[in-house]
Amino acid sequence: MLRKMTETEIKQGLKFVLSKIEEACSRRTKEVGQINPRLVAVSKTKPVESIIEAYEAGQRHFGENYVQELEEKAYNKQILEKCKEIKWHFIGHLQGNKVNKVVNVPNLYIIETVDSQKLARKLNNSCTSSGEGNSKLRVFIQVNTSGEKEKSGCIPNDIIDMVSFVKNECPNLQIDGLMTIGDADHSQEAQNPDFLKLIQCKKEVCQKFNIPEEEFELSMGMSGDFEHAIEMGSTNVRVGSAIFGYRAKKNT
Ligand SMILES: *Cc1c(COP(=O)(O)O)cnc(C)c1O
Repeated sequence: MLRKMTETEIKQGLKFVLSKIEEACSRRTKEVGQINPRLVAVSKTKPVESIIEAYEAGQRHFGENYVQELEEKAYNKQILEKCKEIKWHFIGHLQGNKVNKVVNVPNLYIIETVDSQKLARKLNNSCTSSGEGNSKLRVFIQVNTSGEKEKSGCIPNDIIDMVSFVKNECPNLQIDGLMTIGDADHSQEAQNPDFLKLIQCKKEVCQKFNIPEEEFELSMGMSGDFEHAIEMGSTNVRVGSAIFGYRAKKNT
């Protein structure tokens, strides 16, 4: 049964995760960098009230992985009124025909799942046609580090081509870093090999394009492994169930 959490439960979940993030930060070695990781509260399947509760407890970054659900929440009247500083992260697989919808969502902060040149080009064109101001659309490039067939993401060997394409052909996009999900079975290993692969991709990108490492983000870590991810250098953790509680699986 899907149970709606009470306000205090969500607040407690948030507080707990934030304290675990702080502890994980204190365990980082110097070479990993000292950037304060951003917590993205993954609110998929959860009601608007839960988002407002987390927002009122201080949370600002929220993640959704379905375009329609993101639209419903981002355009929701209550959210627009009560959560003026909300920042949405799109973290799901993005189909080409939904690009315009996502780009136009109010308070969109970043699209974390750009995984092909075709999608990057579509996003770039969509920004031009919406023509709002001159700020670029932030993106992460999603990398399929675990090689699982059902996972999205460009293959690690394509990362340089991918970044080079966005930098040269997509003037409306700004690459802030790389994102991966990884194999859930790897999440309990001492050094998650999928996270290591993402770190290696980042090193290659920073070297090739002369980007200071502290200016290039790593989005990795979920409820089961965000502390470990932070110890390894994650700057953006996407945490759902540890904040909002158990989530019923969508029927597939
Ligand atoms: C659902 C989801 C998360 C959060 O998962 P939890 O295990 O509930 O923390 C993180 N990232 C992506 C891409 C997701 O789809």
